[in-house]
Amino acid sequence: MIIKYKNYTSGVHSIDERKDSQELGMGEDYTGDVLLSCSMDKSQHQILLNCEITANVKLSCDRCGEDFLGEIYNEFQVTCFFEEERESKEENVRFLTAENEIIDLSEEVKEYLTLAIPMKILCDDDCKGLCVSCGANLNEVTCECNKEKINPIWDELKKLKNNLNN
Ligand SMILES: [Zn+2]
Ligand SMILES: [Zn+2]
Repeated sequence: MIIKYKNYTSGVHSIDERKDSQELGMGEDYTGDVLLSCSMDKSQHQILLNCEITANVKLSCDRCGEDFLGEIYNEFQVTCFFEEERESKEENVRFLTAENEIIDLSEEVKEYLTLAIPMKILCDDDCKGLCVSCGANLNEVTCECNKEKINPIWDELKKLKNNLNN
């Protein structure tokens, strides 16, 4: 995921790059290409990169445990200054000297893709999850457990009714 910024004139440019997720060195859960869509604002003293990344990754639903292929997305900014490297406490700041022909964004892409995986993973917002009693995947089957839970209530009512009748 390399930006050959020297090929571009001053101004704003859209740059799209894609690279196989395995070639990029993502984990084996990633599949297909990683897409990088970059808006590069190049001026005399600096380059501002606004980057969007998408990738497909095998995820496991926190509710039902099923594996599914999910698309993840993240964005980040990198600012590059055309000057000698100096100490910088800011994140995502780079210094480009005459030797730097390119800007390699591979590390940022990898980092931000890893961060893009949500804390709570759901195969679907409406995922019904697993039955707490029998473990059946309620997205696929309807188990009998709920009915059994209702039965004792009816039994009590029947008993009550019988008692009243007697
Ligand atoms: Zn699920
Ligand atoms: Zn059940």
